[in-house]
Amino acid sequence: MARIAVIGGGAAGMMASIAAAQNGAEVTLFDGNEKLGKKVYITGKGRCNVTNAAKDEEFLNNIVHNGRFMYSSFAAFSNEDLMKMIEDAGVPLKVERGGRVFPVSDKASDITKALERLMHKHKVRIVLRAKVREIILSDDGFDLDFGHETRHFDKVICACGGVSYPTTGSDGSGFKLVEKLGHSVTELKPSLIPVLTKEQWCKDLTGLSLKNVQLTAKMGKKVLYTELGEMLFTHFGISGPLVLSMSCYIVDKDLNKVDIRIDMKPGLTREQLEKRMLRDFEEKQRAQVGTVLDGLLPRSMTPVVASLADVPEDTPVNQVTREMRDRLIDTLKGIPVTAVGFRPVAEAIVTRGGVKVKEVNPSTMESKLCPGLYLAGEMLDVDGFTGGFNLQVAFSTGYCAGMSAAQE
Ligand SMILES: Cc1cc2nc3c(=O)[nH]c(=O)nc-3n(C[C@H](O)[C@H](O)[C@H](O)COP(=O)(O)OP(=O)(O)OC[C@H]3O[C@@H](n4cnc5c(N)ncnc54)[C@H](O)[C@@H]3O)c2cc1C
Repeated sequence: MARIAVIGGGAAGMMASIAAAQNGAEVTLFDGNEKLGKKVYITGKGRCNVTNAAKDEEFLNNIVHNGRFMYSSFAAFSNEDLMKMIEDAGVPLKVERGGRVFPVSDKASDITKALERLMHKHKVRIVLRAKVREIILSDDGFDLDFGHETRHFDKVICACGGVSYPTTGSDGSGFKLVEKLGHSVTELKPSLIPVLTKEQWCKDLTGLSLKNVQLTAKMGKKVLYTELGEMLFTHFGISGPLVLSMSCYIVDKDLNKVDIRIDMKPGLTREQLEKRMLRDFEEKQRAQVGTVLDGLLPRSMTPVVASLADVPEDTPVNQVTREMRDRLIDTLKGIPVTAVGFRPVAEAIVTRGGVKVKEVNPSTMESKLCPGLYLAGEMLDVDGFTGGFNLQVAFSTGYCAGMSAAQE
């Protein structure tokens, strides 16, 4: 019976331990924390968006970075396999808008409890407050160094997470462990992260959230990202669902070349917007431009749009020239925002970068450089969109690692 150590008690590690134990291995899971699933606990604002109900191709399209690497592990353990496993373990699930899957209870802790029940059922030994300092290769396996003792195992599954939200335990120490065994780690960056902007007006509008707008990021003529939805202004720039998603596509780009626009009226074409404006001007002949803009925008955006369009708010509508109207329409259909950076990776929902996927067998998650070592979860250089995709990456790669480590 193979003796397997799993390092990390997050989504990937818990799943790896279950899959390995189910397949006959003697499994011990170590985590530096005092409890399992500390990050799972804060996912989905405490509700845990555990996966997404999207079908195969659509699911893969939501893995923004190194999606191809995920083909085999998604096939081996899909979103449907995960949902069945969790429901069978006593936690009913529901599907919400955009295919997002949550526990019916809306409690992330129920997901961890279900996984813990499965770990107990399959006799996984759980050792907490046990931080691995080094993985040492030996003749017949690996010695794990905990500082005060070493323990021997035949195989090791490393599932130590990325570098975001380090207080949950994912402090990057896992990367050092595997670098010592010869692995390379690509540059670690934030993904799904708020954006810092040059414009002061964004910061002045802190707290304002925009609904039903379209956010577009382009580089030259190439559209990097465009989507309808919600965003908000903060003391450093812009955030909210649209901005987090956009960040996945621009985090690796030269920001000087990225053109970001907010379409405040995505439901109207330029022509329709012009008609609407002319009608408003007609109806409110004595009004000023600001009053008409107030009818089209959240009030605090009016001075911004007027100033960007270079049309003073107090201009009487009957003095608005065609050029002024064109500038107002251009601005409403594409407010420019200049990205100058991102919040730090510690604040990211997910880490971009990690162990090079070329160094890992995508069907087994075994290291190509160090046989007997397996990698899973956010440690790998794979990341996806919000919507449950990142947890599924952790669960699928964890399952694959556990199963293959036990079988081979
Ligand atoms: C605020 C927030 C909300 C999120 N919401 C969602 C969501 O709703 N849906 C979704 O799909 N994704 C979400 N994510 C992303 C998702 O949580 C992660 O991608 C996923 O949890 C990664 O799982 P993991 O097991 O690879 O790593 P982690 O969950 O980070 O687990 C790694 C574990 O390894 C342990 N560890 C690290 N180093 C060592 C060591 N040297 N020795 C021993 N133990 C060690 C850590 O203590 C930790 O418990 C969210 C992320 C954040 C930060």
